[in-house]
Amino acid sequence: MIITNHVWTGAVIGAVAPGPVSALAAGVASHFALDRTPHWGDDSIFLQVAVPDGLVGLTAMGLLARVTPAHRRARVLAGMLGACLPDADKPSNLFFGRSPFPAALDEWHVSIQREDAGRLPQELLVATVGLLAARWVLRHDRAGRRIR
Ligand SMILES: [Zn+2]
Repeated sequence: MIITNHVWTGAVIGAVAPGPVSALAAGVASHFALDRTPHWGDDSIFLQVAVPDGLVGLTAMGLLARVTPAHRRARVLAGMLGACLPDADKPSNLFFGRSPFPAALDEWHVSIQREDAGRLPQELLVATVGLLAARWVLRHDRAGRRIR
């Protein structure tokens, strides 16, 4: 799954979590739940997509943090960090030649993927709609009133 979808999911989780620690933990859990859903994946073009996706994901994190009211910002950042953390093995493997996680965790992480090379349009649509939804959630309270 592209990292951008983990970013917006983590932001929404952080917006509704009671605190940063629970947001971080729920963000990590959301990562594995999303990786279990059918999503795009194609090892033959992984790097061509991963680099722009990483940059878009980082930009999305910055923009979502910027629109988040200060009283929610730590939770939202923790949610986004937790939601992205399990994929830290990918850049670590690329740049340092090893994963920061135990091999058993990495093997399990790979085993739960439900990837299909034909799902890139679905993945990009989910990312676009998800980022817009996250932006709305971050700018409104639970009653739907705009707070920022
Ligand atoms: Zn993953």
